[in-house]
Amino acid sequence: MTVTVRFAPSPTGRIHIGNARTALFNWLFALNNKGRFIQRFDDTDIARSKQEFADAILYDLHWLGIFPDVTDYQSRRFEVYDAAVERLKAAGVLYACYETPEELDLRRKVRRTRGLPPVYGREALALTTEQVAEYQADGRRPHWRFLLPNFSSDPRQPERTEIHWDDLVRGEETVDLASLSDPVLVREDGTYLYTLPSVVDDIEMGVSHVIRGDDHVTNTGVQIALFKALGAEPPVFGHHNLLTTVSGEGLSKRTGALSIESLREDGIEPMAVASLAVLVGTSENVAAAHDLTQLAGHFDPAATSKSSSKFDPAELFVLNRVLLQRMPFDEARDRLMVLGISGEHAEPFWLAVRGNIDRLADAVAWWRVLREGPQEKPEFSDDDRDFLHQALDLLPEEPWNGTVWKDWTGKIREATGRKGKALFMPLRLALTGLPSGPELADLLPLMGREGTMARRP
Ligand code: GLU
Repeated sequence: MTVTVRFAPSPTGRIHIGNARTALFNWLFALNNKGRFIQRFDDTDIARSKQEFADAILYDLHWLGIFPDVTDYQSRRFEVYDAAVERLKAAGVLYACYETPEELDLRRKVRRTRGLPPVYGREALALTTEQVAEYQADGRRPHWRFLLPNFSSDPRQPERTEIHWDDLVRGEETVDLASLSDPVLVREDGTYLYTLPSVVDDIEMGVSHVIRGDDHVTNTGVQIALFKALGAEPPVFGHHNLLTTVSGEGLSKRTGALSIESLREDGIEPMAVASLAVLVGTSENVAAAHDLTQLAGHFDPAATSKSSSKFDPAELFVLNRVLLQRMPFDEARDRLMVLGISGEHAEPFWLAVRGNIDRLADAVAWWRVLREGPQEKPEFSDDDRDFLHQALDLLPEEPWNGTVWKDWTGKIREATGRKGKALFMPLRLALTGLPSGPELADLLPLMGREGTMARRP
């Protein structure tokens, strides 16, 4: 059977690094197993879901290097869910309930004071035809609950019923169905909660592996029961730990915290995001992978920690610098061109500056320094100014070869007696206006003799 995974966000905001972790776990799992990746939008909540968010999520996935084999929307599949509802009703495992939220709340409190678990007591199963008629006459509409298979003959007497699965990430997992309320699958207004459409789609789309955040572990007990009630074999499940901010707060699509969009706008490379999103909170070292195929080689769902992991954006910059430092010109060329960096100097320029930038766009500032000279005129002492005049008088005539910097500074050292910082710092300041940066040996040939002379203070 072909491995089939899916990433199923609700399009109610931009995805954040934690969502990207889920998407990437699925994508890498598919890569490692020659599988298919389905992009499914869980947009049954019509009021909160927006097409623009779905489009933006696809954009973010593409940016990360994820290209779904199939994209589908739950809002286009209501007929399929309606048919499943009819099957469940016919099988007697979907029943109508008429309680208001206030009534349910009161019942829960009563159960608690009696020392019973605060789950739904299935009172609706005992409703008489007259009571139902009365509710309906009052204008109440039913919501529908799935009868969990946690009893032998009397549903009002649930018994411990363990559901087991071998979790791809967490290993052996158990949920006791008697500890759960029968889940509501359909609301009073006929709209669907997440559970039923998700299971129906996983069946119909042939999903073989459900990989998602561990906030869904309890749902899995219910969903396995629902797969079986619909006559299907449940898929394999894997629940990865969640990411939090450095201060330990959960991430939310609604707040936009650590959204993929904001990281992109901050100039973080997609592979820095992907490497950290996948490797943080695993037993693997966090290192920048060059591409997703390479990252897949380091991906093992079972190596993921069971407790939540803190996500520190500062680590992204560390990875970003490494990626830029290693980036060959061929990979940078088009992006540099868009930034106005092109021509015969573009390649040596890139090789000179790539080890000194936090983001690719920072190259622009160096390009400007090379073309226009220091952006702020450096101040020099009289001594340093004299030294620089003397130094520039010694600048070799062109054509220059690869050792021009070495030859020039050798001559300066000999003539002035200066060495080390006293020699290099005034030169660096005069040539670039900045106290640190790329190797001057690499920058000098890009300035040329004329450009260098023009920097005479
Ligand atoms: N829409 C659900 C979520 O975003 C999907 C969970 C699942 O993967 O089953 O949490």
